[in-house]
Formats: sequence, structure tokens, C-alpha cells
Amino acid sequence: MGKKSDIELIVGGLRKDKRLPEQTREIKMKVGNIVSANGSAEVSFGNTIALSSVHGPRELFPRHLQESQTGILRVRYNMAPFSVDDRKSPGPDRRSVEISKVIRLALEPAIFLDDYPKVTVDGFVEVIQADGSTRVTGINALSLALASAGIPMKDLVTACSVGKINGTLIVDLNGEEDNNSESDVAVAIMPTSNLVTLLQMDGVLTKEELMHLLDLAKKTCKDIHEMQRNVLLEKYKGEE
Ligand code: ADP
Repeated sequence: MGKKSDIELIVGGLRKDKRLPEQTREIKMKVGNIVSANGSAEVSFGNTIALSSVHGPRELFPRHLQESQTGILRVRYNMAPFSVDDRKSPGPDRRSVEISKVIRLALEPAIFLDDYPKVTVDGFVEVIQADGSTRVTGINALSLALASAGIPMKDLVTACSVGKINGTLIVDLNGEEDNNSESDVAVAIMPTSNLVTLLQMDGVLTKEELMHLLDLAKKTCKDIHEMQRNVLLEKYKGEE
């Protein structure tokens, strides 16, 4: 986290998994895969896999939690005990509470919650395999799951991580890169308007480096957005 690493993560211009600095891992997406949910999706970036389900809009109980003028989005991010090599202790912890909150904040601006007074939309992100960049993978998955639930949205939300390892600016950090990075930055964007809905930075960067990384994140998110659109069109084309 934000330290200068002695580990050689880039050799001959390539990262340990043979990627170029600005290359993402293989990205896969599915939607509508959990039939008991109103909407669902699975997104993987290399070995990081996030499942997401959306339940609602549904009436919020207890009633005193209801907002009379608007609906609310609730998000729970969870990393499965088997998602990492050393078993993670089950249940919520400070990290999962924080990540649940930032995922919610990244998605809220995209949803027309005012259309749903007194109701809740519940979004779940379950990381079943964790190899870095789980929060951004979760944002991509939940964004797709909300769209697949038919929740009216201004735009999809698209996210990726960028950062700096061995003095080089890179896209889509895996677990080893994240653990040994000089800086890592999680970015979420509404790609049509280029509105940034999440920018979380760890470590040290110059202003120029940060601006360059933001440009890289925007370019990468455009490609991810295209994939999100295509997977939704493929699944739901022809459906009213
Ligand atoms: P993100 O997953 O969004 O990058 P972090 O920076 O907190 O968020 O985590 C980086 C990576 O560290 C995770 O993707 C995961 O691979 C690993 N990690 C996080 N928490 C644990 C844990 N409790 N046990 C083992 N590895 C973990």
C-alpha cells in the first residue's frame, strides 16, 4: 500500500502476467445468471470474480427507515472466506463496510431513485475469488445487475483500477501488484457524461501522474462500457 517496492513487477516492459502496462486482464461478463434475483451479473477481471444480485425495488421495512420523497439504495459487499489463499474470516469487517459504502456512492448518481419513494433497492456484491481490484469489479457487476433488474438509470457505471508499480503507470492491478504498489487508484465513471462517481487513491503520485492515470482510466472504462452494453443487448434484445 503506497510504498516503494523492491519486488520486480515489470521486466522488459511487461508485467509478471505478461501484460503491457496499460492492458487489462481478460474481462468476462454475464447477466441474468441468478434467477431468484430481480437482476444479476457476474464479472471477472482475470482471477478476480464478483457476483452481484439486485432485489427490489421493494417496500422498505421497518417503515421509519423509509424516505417519503425518494427510494434508497442499500449495498452489501462481501468477500467469501474461500476467495483468497489464506482463508478470510467470514462476516463483515471494517474493510467490507467501507467498500459497501463506496460502491453505493459510486452507483447512486446513476439511478433514478426519486421514482421510488419509500422503497429500497438492495444490491449485493459477493467476491468469490479475489486477486486485486475487487471493488471496481463489484461496481461493474452491480451496475449490470441494476440494469438487468430494469431499474431506470441515467447511465451505466463503469469502473477500473489504475496505479503505479516500479515507477510505471499501469491499468487493472492484480493482487500482487496491489500489495506492492507505490499507488493504486479506484475510478468509477458514468461513461456517457464522463462524470466521475468514485476516485479513491492510496499512496503517492504527482499531480501529472494522477491526471495521466485518470485519462487511462477513462479510456479503459470506455472499452469496459462497450462490453457492458453488448452483454445487456445480447441477453435482453427483443424483450420488452
Ligand atoms: P480492492 O480489492 O478493491 O483492490 P483492497 O486494496 O482492500 O481492495 O484489496 C486488495 C487485494 O488484497 C484484494 O483484491 C485481495 O486480493 C487482497 N485482500 C484483501 N483483503 C484480504 C484478506 N482479508 N485476506 C487476503 N487477501 C486480501
